[in-house]
Amino acid sequence: MFPHKVGSAWEVHTPAKLNLYLDVLGSRADGFHELETLLVPVRICDQLRWEDSPNPTATPFLRVRDLLEIGSTSTTPLSTGADNLVCRATERLAQAAGMEPRGTFELTKRIPVQAGLGGGSSNAAAALLLANAAWGIGYSRRRLAELAAEVGSDVPFFLNSGAAVCRGRGEIVEAVSALPRMHFVVVKPPTSLSTAEVFAQWEQQRDAATDETVERRSAAGGLGTLVELLRSGALAQAGRWMVNRLESAAAAISPWIDRLRHELAGQSFCGQSMTGSGSACFGLARSATQARRVARLLSGKDLGNVFATSSC
Ligand code: C5P
Repeated sequence: MFPHKVGSAWEVHTPAKLNLYLDVLGSRADGFHELETLLVPVRICDQLRWEDSPNPTATPFLRVRDLLEIGSTSTTPLSTGADNLVCRATERLAQAAGMEPRGTFELTKRIPVQAGLGGGSSNAAAALLLANAAWGIGYSRRRLAELAAEVGSDVPFFLNSGAAVCRGRGEIVEAVSALPRMHFVVVKPPTSLSTAEVFAQWEQQRDAATDETVERRSAAGGLGTLVELLRSGALAQAGRWMVNRLESAAAAISPWIDRLRHELAGQSFCGQSMTGSGSACFGLARSATQARRVARLLSGKDLGNVFATSSC
């Protein structure tokens, strides 16, 4: 993510992410879960802009413009208050630097919320980078990563660019280089899912039902195999190693997960999965052409928001 100056303002594009692999290794004493996941940023982007305001009390600190079309799945209005991750991130940065937050942020949303696409976390990382530059704080990426981890588990990932394997709560980020450009079809159904609820559901069913496919791939060192196959460009083989340990928990909450599984399975993708804690699901396409063709086809099926996109 690279903030740039536009006149006296600062702007940055804030990408979504897809989890090509997500294993839950166990629960932790702090209430979070230990994860092992491969995250890839994709070109479904929000935009965050910061401008100084001559009179700080005259304008709201955060404005949100929602660009998802009317009738789409953006049913959850995004808060512009203190609980918005942009506000939480900038408050935390201002507090660490011993200053008052300054100026106005404008967030232009295209990434569906509560979709497992990491939109809020990406916005938070963007806000840290913008405010760090615009307020002249000059913290290093390492210092920003510490603050990012306090704001949310996926926020440190978005401070960098490119794919990464994330561990711990998600905040331990190891960059993965040399992956090829990948093309995807992403479907966000009308139902959104809360991350906390999906983890709670996973806890409830963890002893009752083991997902044999996930068990097999995880036990066979699936993450390493997936990364190597992706690097070598063997996408069709790589797709067979994609897993998401939270998928059956999400499917127990929303019937859309099974519906999307079924729709995507009919499209001869290299592989398919849910992303994060859902509710969006995606297919790894063989080419940009296939991604565009399938996205057009699925757009006519009343499944919610459909995107053809690629890794960035
Ligand atoms: O860190 P973040 O705010 O994204 O997490 C949202 C919720 O998701 C947490 O409150 C927790 O319930 C759950 N979570 C978890 N284990 C993780 C990440 C998130 O249990 N590694």
